[in-house]
Amino acid sequence: MRPFEFSQVKDTAAGSDAVRRGGQFVGGGTTMYDLMKLDVMRPDSLVDITGIAGLSDIEFSGDDLKIGALVTMSELGRHKRVMAEYPVLAETLLLAASQQLRNMARLGGNVLQRTRCAYFRDTKFLECNKRIPGSGCAALDGNNRMHAILGGSSHCIATYPGDWAQALIALDADVEILGTDGARRVKFADLHRLPEETPDIETNLQDGDLITGFVISGGPWPRSRYVKVRDRESYEFGLASAAVALRLDGDVIGQARIALGGVATIPWRSKAAEVSLQGRALNEITASEAAEAAFLDARTYGGNAYKLPLGKAVLIRALLEAKEMRI
Ligand code: SF4
Repeated sequence: MRPFEFSQVKDTAAGSDAVRRGGQFVGGGTTMYDLMKLDVMRPDSLVDITGIAGLSDIEFSGDDLKIGALVTMSELGRHKRVMAEYPVLAETLLLAASQQLRNMARLGGNVLQRTRCAYFRDTKFLECNKRIPGSGCAALDGNNRMHAILGGSSHCIATYPGDWAQALIALDADVEILGTDGARRVKFADLHRLPEETPDIETNLQDGDLITGFVISGGPWPRSRYVKVRDRESYEFGLASAAVALRLDGDVIGQARIALGGVATIPWRSKAAEVSLQGRALNEITASEAAEAAFLDARTYGGNAYKLPLGKAVLIRALLEAKEMRI
């Protein structure tokens, strides 16, 4: 690991100043320190923000649920009211990482975790546009079993690795950001960028931007579910996952929200699947049609071809399980 400076700040202004001088924010550090040890990330200076007050609250306010960026995965995943009213939020967290990591990792950093593409994480490989812009993409013709079938480009097909982001995008969350020009609130769906020609630029955050929280408006989604399939049932990234939230009128779908994980380059909301279900009874046939719509634009690359049938099966299962939930 290379030498670096480390400082701790108690307020956002001091944090922004330090980052403007070339530092990088760190919360739980569960991705950052990992990638620094691998020599993939090389910050000269880290600014620890875990001492900043006011970013660790979970607050129900009218129809809004507000979640501070420094809340840990464990705190939100085990929050009783969140588990009852927004189960998909809790399930995405409890099916991710290990208990030790969930105790450390903060939600602001959770949504910014970086891909598990082996070519990205191993500096021996010199073809990786995300790590070395312009160098190529070893995964296109290489080992791409874990890679994305939605949202890729000829420059990168790395999978977005997180789980919680799928719940956020399904629930149409906003993200609160404190930047050099003050606070702003944007759609979570606008946070991440498709790889296109610049896979090294992963978000629309600007230098000095700090994620301060998340807001889910419009009231609870008690009928919501996360299904994740992985190589082993603990401490593993998803091969395919689906976050769904439903509002039913009898058997008929009044509102459906659908997001996919493990199969796409960014947190992936499928509005085509949502539209295909609108106003229809939810059953195996309509769920299958929704899955077809969700993967209509999928492109496979050899080793990840299995993700096409798997992704559809996972979405069908999530929809049917959500329908059967007792709320
Ligand atoms: Fe790098 Fe993306 Fe290609 Fe992986 S898929 S080698 S992260 S450019």
